Amino acid sequence: MKEVIKKRVLVTGGAGFLGSFLCEQLLHAGHDVLCMDNFFTGRKANIAHLMDNPYFELMRQDVTVPFYVEVDEIYNLACPASPVHYQFDPVQTTKTSVHGAINVLGLANRVKAKVLQASTSEVYGDPTIHPQPESYWGNVNPIGIRSCYDEGKRCAETLFFDYHRQHQLEIKVVRIFNTYGPRMHPQDGRVVSNFIMQALQGDAITIYGDGKQTRSFCYCDDLIEGFIRLMASDSSVTGPINLGNPGEFTMIELAETILELTNSSSELVFKPLPEDDPKQRRPDITLAKQHLNWEPQIELRAGLDKTIEYFDTLLSAGK
Ligand code: NAD
Ligand code: UDP
Repeated sequence: MKEVIKKRVLVTGGAGFLGSFLCEQLLHAGHDVLCMDNFFTGRKANIAHLMDNPYFELMRQDVTVPFYVEVDEIYNLACPASPVHYQFDPVQTTKTSVHGAINVLGLANRVKAKVLQASTSEVYGDPTIHPQPESYWGNVNPIGIRSCYDEGKRCAETLFFDYHRQHQLEIKVVRIFNTYGPRMHPQDGRVVSNFIMQALQGDAITIYGDGKQTRSFCYCDDLIEGFIRLMASDSSVTGPINLGNPGEFTMIELAETILELTNSSSELVFKPLPEDDPKQRRPDITLAKQHLNWEPQIELRAGLDKTIEYFDTLLSAGK
Protein backbone atom coordinates (compact mmCIF):
# COMPACT_ATOMS: atom_id res chain seq x y z
CA MET A 1 0.00 0.00 0.00
CA LYS A 2 1.24 3.52 -0.83
CA GLU A 3 2.34 5.29 2.36
CA VAL A 4 0.82 8.75 2.92
CA ILE A 5 3.23 11.46 4.00
CA LYS A 6 1.26 13.35 6.61
CA LYS A 7 1.36 17.07 5.87
CA ARG A 8 0.28 19.97 8.07
CA VAL A 9 -2.23 21.82 5.93
CA LEU A 10 -3.80 25.22 6.63
CA VAL A 11 -7.21 25.93 5.06
CA THR A 12 -8.29 29.57 5.43
CA GLY A 13 -12.06 29.95 5.08
CA GLY A 14 -12.22 26.28 6.14
CA ALA A 15 -15.68 26.56 7.75
CA GLY A 16 -17.27 27.79 4.53
CA PHE A 17 -19.05 25.82 1.84
CA LEU A 18 -16.00 24.73 -0.18
CA GLY A 19 -13.52 24.93 2.71
CA SER A 20 -15.40 22.38 4.80
CA PHE A 21 -15.37 19.79 1.99
CA LEU A 22 -11.68 20.44 1.43
CA CYS A 23 -10.87 19.95 5.16
CA GLU A 24 -12.83 16.70 5.04
CA GLN A 25 -10.96 15.40 1.99
CA LEU A 26 -7.56 16.35 3.40
CA LEU A 27 -8.30 14.52 6.67
CA HIS A 28 -9.52 11.56 4.65
CA ALA A 29 -6.19 11.55 2.78
CA GLY A 30 -4.34 11.32 6.13
CA HIS A 31 -3.22 14.92 6.65
CA ASP A 32 -3.18 17.16 9.71
CA VAL A 33 -5.63 20.02 9.07
CA LEU A 34 -5.73 23.49 10.59
CA CYS A 35 -8.99 25.23 9.70
CA MET A 36 -8.94 29.01 10.05
CA ASP A 37 -12.10 31.11 9.79
CA ASN A 38 -13.69 34.28 11.13
CA PHE A 39 -17.21 32.85 10.58
CA PHE A 40 -18.38 35.78 8.45
CA THR A 41 -20.19 33.41 6.08
CA GLY A 42 -18.86 30.09 7.38
CA ARG A 43 -20.70 27.99 9.95
CA LYS A 44 -19.67 25.66 12.76
CA ALA A 45 -22.35 23.25 11.48
CA ASN A 46 -20.22 22.71 8.34
CA ILE A 47 -17.31 21.33 10.37
CA ALA A 48 -19.03 20.02 13.54
CA HIS A 49 -18.58 16.43 12.32
CA LEU A 50 -14.79 16.95 12.09
CA MET A 51 -14.27 18.35 15.60
CA ASP A 52 -13.63 14.96 17.25
CA ASN A 53 -10.88 14.08 14.79
CA PRO A 54 -7.53 14.54 16.63
CA TYR A 55 -5.93 15.68 13.35
CA PHE A 56 -8.42 18.53 12.90
CA GLU A 57 -7.93 21.88 14.62
CA LEU A 58 -10.11 24.99 14.42
CA MET A 59 -8.71 28.50 14.78
CA ARG A 60 -11.02 31.55 14.92
CA GLN A 61 -8.94 34.14 13.12
CA ASP A 62 -9.41 36.91 10.59
CA VAL A 63 -7.05 36.43 7.65
CA THR A 64 -6.46 40.21 7.48
CA VAL A 65 -4.68 40.06 10.87
CA PRO A 66 -1.17 38.50 10.73
CA PHE A 67 -0.86 34.98 12.16
CA TYR A 68 2.00 32.57 12.78
CA VAL A 69 1.64 28.82 12.34
CA GLU A 70 3.91 26.02 11.14
CA VAL A 71 2.48 24.32 8.07
CA ASP A 72 3.60 22.59 4.86
CA GLU A 73 0.76 23.61 2.57
CA ILE A 74 -1.83 26.43 2.53
CA TYR A 75 -5.14 26.65 0.70
CA ASN A 76 -6.31 30.29 0.83
CA LEU A 77 -10.12 30.27 0.57
CA ALA A 78 -11.02 33.01 3.08
CA CYS A 79 -13.35 35.47 1.32
CA PRO A 80 -17.13 35.76 1.01
CA ALA A 81 -18.12 34.46 -2.44
CA SER A 82 -21.77 35.48 -2.79
CA PRO A 83 -22.36 38.95 -4.32
CA VAL A 84 -24.83 39.71 -1.48
CA HIS A 85 -22.20 38.98 1.15
CA TYR A 86 -19.16 40.50 -0.53
CA GLN A 87 -21.10 43.71 -1.22
CA PHE A 88 -22.29 43.93 2.41
CA ASP A 89 -18.95 45.41 3.55
CA PRO A 90 -17.00 46.02 0.33
CA VAL A 91 -13.99 47.63 2.04
CA GLN A 92 -13.60 44.54 4.22
CA THR A 93 -13.93 42.34 1.09
CA THR A 94 -10.97 44.03 -0.60
CA LYS A 95 -8.99 43.84 2.66
CA THR A 96 -9.77 40.15 2.97
CA SER A 97 -8.46 39.43 -0.52
CA VAL A 98 -5.47 41.76 -0.50
CA HIS A 99 -4.30 41.88 3.15
CA GLY A 100 -5.31 38.23 3.42
CA ALA A 101 -3.07 37.32 0.47
CA ILE A 102 -0.19 39.37 1.92
CA ASN A 103 -0.48 37.58 5.28
CA VAL A 104 -0.82 34.13 3.73
CA LEU A 105 2.10 34.71 1.34
CA GLY A 106 4.29 36.17 4.10
CA LEU A 107 3.61 33.09 6.20
CA ALA A 108 4.23 30.73 3.26
CA ASN A 109 7.52 32.48 2.54
CA ARG A 110 8.69 32.20 6.18
CA VAL A 111 7.86 28.52 6.56
CA LYS A 112 8.52 27.60 2.90
CA ALA A 113 5.01 26.26 2.38
CA LYS A 114 3.33 25.59 -0.94
CA VAL A 115 0.33 27.91 -1.31
CA LEU A 116 -2.88 27.73 -3.36
CA GLN A 117 -5.08 30.74 -4.03
CA ALA A 118 -8.84 30.33 -4.60
CA SER A 119 -9.26 32.90 -7.35
CA THR A 120 -12.34 33.27 -9.48
CA SER A 121 -13.86 33.51 -12.94
CA GLU A 122 -14.79 37.06 -11.82
CA VAL A 123 -11.26 38.11 -12.83
CA TYR A 124 -12.66 37.92 -16.40
CA GLY A 125 -15.45 40.40 -15.45
CA ASP A 126 -18.15 40.65 -18.14
CA PRO A 127 -16.15 38.65 -20.70
CA THR A 128 -15.91 39.61 -24.35
CA ILE A 129 -14.26 36.27 -25.22
CA HIS A 130 -16.27 33.06 -24.91
CA PRO A 131 -15.51 30.53 -23.45
CA GLN A 132 -12.85 32.08 -21.21
CA PRO A 133 -9.26 30.76 -21.46
CA GLU A 134 -6.68 31.67 -18.78
CA SER A 135 -4.84 33.85 -21.33
CA TYR A 136 -7.80 36.30 -21.44
CA TRP A 137 -7.09 39.42 -19.36
CA GLY A 138 -10.72 40.19 -18.70
CA ASN A 139 -13.19 43.05 -18.88
CA VAL A 140 -13.56 44.31 -15.31
CA ASN A 141 -15.14 47.54 -14.09
CA PRO A 142 -12.65 48.90 -11.51
CA ILE A 143 -15.18 51.17 -9.73
CA GLY A 144 -18.45 49.22 -9.70
CA ILE A 145 -20.28 47.35 -6.95
CA ARG A 146 -18.60 44.02 -7.88
CA SER A 147 -15.11 45.56 -8.02
CA CYS A 148 -14.30 44.97 -4.33
CA TYR A 149 -14.39 41.25 -5.11
CA ASP A 150 -13.15 41.21 -8.73
CA GLU A 151 -10.26 43.65 -8.23
CA GLY A 152 -9.44 42.24 -4.78
CA LYS A 153 -9.03 38.79 -6.34
CA ARG A 154 -7.05 40.21 -9.28
CA CYS A 155 -4.67 41.98 -6.90
CA ALA A 156 -4.31 38.75 -4.89
CA GLU A 157 -3.26 36.96 -8.11
CA THR A 158 -0.68 39.73 -8.74
CA LEU A 159 0.72 39.23 -5.23
CA PHE A 160 0.93 35.47 -5.72
CA PHE A 161 2.90 35.84 -8.96
CA ASP A 162 5.18 38.53 -7.49
CA TYR A 163 5.99 36.31 -4.50
CA HIS A 164 6.69 33.50 -6.95
CA ARG A 165 9.04 35.63 -9.08
CA GLN A 166 10.66 37.56 -6.23
CA HIS A 167 10.92 34.83 -3.54
CA GLN A 168 10.65 31.64 -5.64
CA LEU A 169 7.60 30.66 -3.62
CA GLU A 170 5.74 27.61 -4.91
CA ILE A 171 2.27 28.87 -5.87
CA LYS A 172 -0.91 27.45 -7.39
CA VAL A 173 -3.65 29.82 -8.59
CA VAL A 174 -7.04 28.36 -9.43
CA ARG A 175 -9.84 30.34 -11.11
CA ILE A 176 -13.07 28.80 -9.85
CA PHE A 177 -16.25 29.05 -11.94
CA ASN A 178 -19.68 28.97 -10.20
CA THR A 179 -19.64 25.97 -7.87
CA TYR A 180 -22.63 24.69 -5.91
CA GLY A 181 -23.63 21.86 -3.59
CA PRO A 182 -24.74 20.92 -0.09
CA ARG A 183 -23.56 23.21 2.76
CA MET A 184 -24.15 26.40 0.79
CA HIS A 185 -25.78 28.78 3.23
CA PRO A 186 -29.58 28.73 2.69
CA GLN A 187 -29.58 32.56 2.73
CA ASP A 188 -26.35 32.73 0.74
CA GLY A 189 -28.00 34.73 -2.07
CA ARG A 190 -26.34 32.83 -4.92
CA VAL A 191 -28.58 31.58 -7.68
CA VAL A 192 -28.56 27.82 -7.05
CA SER A 193 -29.35 28.08 -3.33
CA ASN A 194 -31.93 30.85 -3.93
CA PHE A 195 -33.82 28.89 -6.61
CA ILE A 196 -33.81 25.62 -4.63
CA MET A 197 -34.97 27.26 -1.39
CA GLN A 198 -37.68 29.16 -3.28
CA ALA A 199 -38.85 26.04 -5.17
CA LEU A 200 -38.96 23.89 -2.02
CA GLN A 201 -40.95 26.51 -0.10
CA GLY A 202 -43.36 27.28 -2.97
CA ASP A 203 -42.09 30.87 -3.17
CA ALA A 204 -41.68 32.76 -6.45
CA ILE A 205 -38.39 32.07 -8.27
CA THR A 206 -36.55 35.39 -8.58
CA ILE A 207 -35.00 35.76 -12.05
CA TYR A 208 -32.78 38.82 -12.31
CA GLY A 209 -32.97 40.60 -15.69
CA ASP A 210 -34.43 38.61 -18.58
CA GLY A 211 -32.89 35.36 -17.32
CA LYS A 212 -30.98 34.85 -20.57
CA GLN A 213 -27.59 35.43 -18.96
CA THR A 214 -25.56 32.22 -18.68
CA ARG A 215 -23.42 30.52 -16.07
CA SER A 216 -21.60 27.15 -15.91
CA PHE A 217 -22.21 25.20 -12.71
CA CYS A 218 -19.69 22.81 -11.19
CA TYR A 219 -20.57 20.36 -8.39
CA CYS A 220 -18.44 20.80 -5.26
CA ASP A 221 -16.92 17.27 -5.23
CA ASP A 222 -15.51 17.78 -8.73
CA LEU A 223 -13.98 21.09 -7.74
CA ILE A 224 -12.32 19.75 -4.57
CA GLU A 225 -10.76 16.94 -6.60
CA GLY A 226 -9.32 19.63 -8.91
CA PHE A 227 -7.90 21.56 -5.91
CA ILE A 228 -6.14 18.47 -4.59
CA ARG A 229 -4.73 17.54 -8.00
CA LEU A 230 -3.45 21.08 -8.52
CA MET A 231 -1.73 21.17 -5.11
CA ALA A 232 -0.05 17.82 -5.92
CA SER A 233 1.01 18.90 -9.43
CA ASP A 234 4.57 19.55 -10.56
CA SER A 235 6.08 22.80 -9.21
CA SER A 236 6.17 24.17 -12.78
CA VAL A 237 2.34 24.24 -12.77
CA THR A 238 1.57 27.57 -11.12
CA GLY A 239 -1.69 28.32 -12.92
CA PRO A 240 -3.73 30.37 -13.25
CA ILE A 241 -5.85 27.40 -14.14
CA ASN A 242 -9.61 27.36 -14.69
CA LEU A 243 -11.70 24.81 -12.78
CA GLY A 244 -15.36 24.61 -13.66
CA ASN A 245 -17.96 22.66 -15.57
CA PRO A 246 -18.20 23.72 -19.23
CA GLY A 247 -21.96 22.93 -19.36
CA GLU A 248 -23.57 26.36 -19.89
CA PHE A 249 -27.15 27.27 -18.92
CA THR A 250 -29.34 30.36 -18.89
CA MET A 251 -30.92 31.29 -15.54
CA ILE A 252 -34.32 30.41 -17.00
CA GLU A 253 -33.05 26.93 -17.92
CA LEU A 254 -31.66 26.54 -14.40
CA ALA A 255 -34.97 27.62 -12.84
CA GLU A 256 -36.96 25.21 -15.03
CA THR A 257 -34.66 22.29 -14.18
CA ILE A 258 -34.95 23.02 -10.45
CA LEU A 259 -38.75 23.30 -10.68
CA GLU A 260 -38.87 19.91 -12.42
CA LEU A 261 -36.49 18.18 -9.97
CA THR A 262 -38.30 19.56 -6.90
CA ASN A 263 -41.73 18.95 -8.43
CA SER A 264 -42.57 22.54 -7.53
CA SER A 265 -45.19 24.79 -9.09
CA SER A 266 -43.52 28.06 -7.99
CA GLU A 267 -43.93 30.83 -10.56
CA LEU A 268 -41.05 32.77 -12.12
CA VAL A 269 -40.86 36.50 -11.26
CA PHE A 270 -38.52 38.91 -13.00
CA LYS A 271 -36.49 41.40 -10.92
CA PRO A 272 -34.02 44.09 -12.03
CA LEU A 273 -30.61 42.85 -13.15
CA PRO A 274 -27.90 43.81 -10.63
CA GLU A 275 -25.28 46.29 -11.87
CA ASP A 276 -22.35 44.78 -13.85
CA ASP A 277 -23.90 41.29 -13.82
CA PRO A 278 -21.84 39.30 -16.39
CA LYS A 279 -23.89 38.24 -19.44
CA GLN A 280 -22.14 34.94 -20.11
CA ARG A 281 -19.61 32.66 -18.51
CA ARG A 282 -18.10 29.30 -19.45
CA PRO A 283 -14.66 27.93 -18.63
CA ASP A 284 -12.18 26.71 -21.19
CA ILE A 285 -10.72 23.77 -19.22
CA THR A 286 -8.06 22.69 -21.73
CA LEU A 287 -5.24 23.46 -19.25
CA ALA A 288 -6.89 21.54 -16.39
CA LYS A 289 -7.29 18.51 -18.67
CA GLN A 290 -3.70 18.77 -19.86
CA HIS A 291 -1.91 19.44 -16.55
CA LEU A 292 -4.20 17.76 -14.00
CA ASN A 293 -5.99 15.17 -16.12
CA TRP A 294 -9.11 16.74 -14.59
CA GLU A 295 -12.58 17.25 -15.88
CA PRO A 296 -15.93 17.35 -14.07
CA GLN A 297 -17.74 14.04 -13.63
CA ILE A 298 -21.06 15.21 -12.19
CA GLU A 299 -23.78 16.47 -14.53
CA LEU A 300 -25.94 19.41 -13.46
CA ARG A 301 -29.10 17.36 -12.78
CA ALA A 302 -27.23 14.82 -10.62
CA GLY A 303 -25.53 17.59 -8.61
CA LEU A 304 -28.79 19.49 -8.21
CA ASP A 305 -30.49 16.34 -6.90
CA LYS A 306 -27.91 16.03 -4.09
CA THR A 307 -28.15 19.75 -3.31
CA ILE A 308 -31.96 19.68 -3.24
CA GLU A 309 -31.83 16.74 -0.81
CA TYR A 310 -29.56 18.76 1.51
CA PHE A 311 -31.82 21.85 1.55
CA ASP A 312 -34.91 19.66 1.93
CA THR A 313 -33.38 18.05 5.04
CA LEU A 314 -32.46 21.50 6.44
CA LEU A 315 -36.03 22.73 5.93
CA SER A 316 -37.57 19.59 7.45
CA ALA A 317 -35.31 20.01 10.51
CA GLY A 318 -36.46 23.66 10.75
CA LYS A 319 -32.86 24.98 10.42
P1 NAD B 1 -18.14 30.78 1.59
O1 NAD B 1 -18.64 32.15 1.82
O2 NAD B 1 -19.03 29.64 2.00
O3 NAD B 1 -16.73 30.57 2.28
C1 NAD B 1 -15.84 31.59 2.57
C2 NAD B 1 -15.26 31.36 3.96
O4 NAD B 1 -14.29 32.37 4.24
C3 NAD B 1 -16.33 31.44 5.06
O5 NAD B 1 -16.18 30.38 5.96
C4 NAD B 1 -16.03 32.79 5.72
O6 NAD B 1 -16.46 32.85 7.07
C5 NAD B 1 -14.52 32.88 5.56
N1 NAD B 1 -14.02 34.25 5.62
C6 NAD B 1 -14.49 35.34 4.98
N2 NAD B 1 -13.75 36.41 5.29
C7 NAD B 1 -12.76 35.98 6.13
C8 NAD B 1 -11.69 36.63 6.81
N3 NAD B 1 -11.46 37.94 6.67
N4 NAD B 1 -10.89 35.87 7.61
C9 NAD B 1 -11.12 34.54 7.77
N5 NAD B 1 -12.12 33.88 7.15
C10 NAD B 1 -12.93 34.60 6.35
O7 NAD B 1 -17.80 30.69 0.03
P2 NAD B 1 -17.24 29.49 -0.86
O8 NAD B 1 -18.14 29.33 -2.00
O9 NAD B 1 -16.91 28.31 -0.02
O10 NAD B 1 -15.89 30.14 -1.43
C11 NAD B 1 -14.61 29.77 -0.96
C12 NAD B 1 -13.55 30.48 -1.79
O11 NAD B 1 -13.67 30.12 -3.16
C13 NAD B 1 -13.65 32.01 -1.74
O12 NAD B 1 -12.35 32.56 -1.70
C14 NAD B 1 -14.32 32.37 -3.05
O13 NAD B 1 -13.96 33.65 -3.50
C15 NAD B 1 -13.79 31.28 -3.97
N6 NAD B 1 -14.71 31.06 -5.09
C16 NAD B 1 -15.86 30.35 -4.91
C17 NAD B 1 -16.72 30.17 -5.98
C18 NAD B 1 -17.99 29.39 -5.87
O14 NAD B 1 -18.74 29.34 -6.83
N7 NAD B 1 -18.30 28.73 -4.77
C19 NAD B 1 -16.41 30.74 -7.24
C20 NAD B 1 -15.24 31.47 -7.36
C21 NAD B 1 -14.39 31.62 -6.29
N1 UDP C 1 -29.54 35.39 -10.13
C1 UDP C 1 -30.92 35.32 -10.34
N2 UDP C 1 -31.73 35.16 -9.26
C2 UDP C 1 -31.25 35.04 -7.99
C3 UDP C 1 -29.85 35.08 -7.77
C4 UDP C 1 -29.03 35.28 -8.87
O1 UDP C 1 -31.39 35.40 -11.48
O2 UDP C 1 -32.07 34.88 -7.06
C5 UDP C 1 -28.64 35.53 -11.30
C6 UDP C 1 -27.61 36.65 -11.17
O3 UDP C 1 -28.13 37.89 -11.60
C7 UDP C 1 -26.51 36.13 -12.07
C8 UDP C 1 -26.61 34.60 -11.94
O4 UDP C 1 -27.90 34.35 -11.40
O5 UDP C 1 -26.77 36.48 -13.42
C9 UDP C 1 -25.56 34.01 -11.01
O6 UDP C 1 -25.59 34.75 -9.80
P1 UDP C 1 -24.74 34.35 -8.51
O7 UDP C 1 -25.01 35.40 -7.49
O8 UDP C 1 -25.04 32.94 -8.14
O9 UDP C 1 -23.22 34.36 -8.99
P2 UDP C 1 -22.33 35.29 -9.95
O10 UDP C 1 -21.90 34.37 -11.02
O11 UDP C 1 -23.15 36.42 -10.49
O12 UDP C 1 -21.24 35.77 -9.07
